[in-house]
Amino acid sequence: MLIEARDLVHIYAKGTAFSQRALDEVSLQVAKGEFIGIIGHTGSGKSTLIQHLNGLLRADSGSYCFRGDSVYEKGFDMKVLRQKVGLVFQYPEHQLFEVDVLSDVSFGPKNQGLSEEEVLSRAKEALSLVGLGEEFYKKSPFELSGGQKRRVAIAGVIAMHPEVLILDEPTAGLDPKGRDEILSRIRLLREEMGVTILLVSHSMEDIADYVDRIIVMHEGKKLLDGSVKEVFMEYKRLEAIGLKAPQIFYLVQRLRKEGLAIPEDITTVREAREAIIKLFAAKKGRRG
Ligand code: ADP
Ligand code: MG
Repeated sequence: MLIEARDLVHIYAKGTAFSQRALDEVSLQVAKGEFIGIIGHTGSGKSTLIQHLNGLLRADSGSYCFRGDSVYEKGFDMKVLRQKVGLVFQYPEHQLFEVDVLSDVSFGPKNQGLSEEEVLSRAKEALSLVGLGEEFYKKSPFELSGGQKRRVAIAGVIAMHPEVLILDEPTAGLDPKGRDEILSRIRLLREEMGVTILLVSHSMEDIADYVDRIIVMHEGKKLLDGSVKEVFMEYKRLEAIGLKAPQIFYLVQRLRKEGLAIPEDITTVREAREAIIKLFAAKKGRRG
């Protein structure tokens, strides 16, 4: 198992009047190659959880193994963990600071002590993976659009060749076009680099089409964890905490109620379209 966290507890401002139990016995396993969405309201503990996974935060109790090695054991190399588990913060564009795009993306691999040649080749590869060509290399990050800046920031993490890529609300504040651009790039990364991806979002609608598995966080606890279909089938529990399955899921339930024989666990518009076409084709065949 790549990631194996057990009963993680994290308390901010411990021992003060402001003490906050941000993680409450959260356990989590991630296998290589998974594409997971982490969903929950603001304050549910998503950012706190992922910062444990790359070692930025340390749990007050619980255990965490990365590739079978216990992270909290003496002698564990945190530097390796931070490199293997790449974290793209929320609003990462605020951390762009170099004079041009290529230098910015080169910063991480440079710090890994790689040769100049290797640094350059990784930076170029990462930029091409996020869809930014040569014409962007010498641009100042500040000349770019919001979505482009964010892609530069993501490239900066990819250039370090992480095994796990964690993105904290990568579409926050982007328009629908910027959002689709980012999400389809992330999907491509998974296909081309085989990297394991954890995508934090507060929008089911956004990620339902992309991820294979969803983890729902609520008040510091893990409420649900399963395939997209499994989690949406629990829509009553989602609704109880003010979340929802995507619209298409409800539309399908409604059509079934009206007597349309389509499967109940459809989660994407594409699946719904295919099921409906199939149904009508079958009807037509029967008639003709
Ligand atoms: P999310 O990412 O889901 O919005 P967070 O992990 O940021 O949730 O926050 C979980 C809880 O911990 C919230 O109640 C938040 O106010 C609190 N919290 C987050 N960061 C800090 C911090 N640095 N100091 C104190 N409390 C914090
Ligand atoms: Mg957050």
